[in-house]
Amino acid sequence: MTKKIVINQDKCIGCNTCPLLDPNHFELDQNTYKAKVKKQPEKITDDIQNTIASCPVGAITLE
Ligand code: SF4
Repeated sequence: MTKKIVINQDKCIGCNTCPLLDPNHFELDQNTYKAKVKKQPEKITDDIQNTIASCPVGAITLE
C-alpha cells in the first residue's frame, strides 16, 4: 500500500519550502500559514523524498 504524506502541524513553521519545491502535492494553508497536503501522490517519487528531506524542522513524514 502506498504511504501517505503527513505534515505535523505543531512542527511546521510555515517556511513555504515544500509548496515551492512541489506545488502539486503541498500548499500553504492561508488561514494557519502551515503546510498541508494538497494531493496525496499515487507513488512516492524521489522528488517527493527530496522535498520531505528539505523540510528544515522534519515536519513531513510518510505513514
Ligand atoms: S518545509 Fe516543513 S516547515 Fe516548511 S512549510 Fe513545509 S512542512 Fe512546513
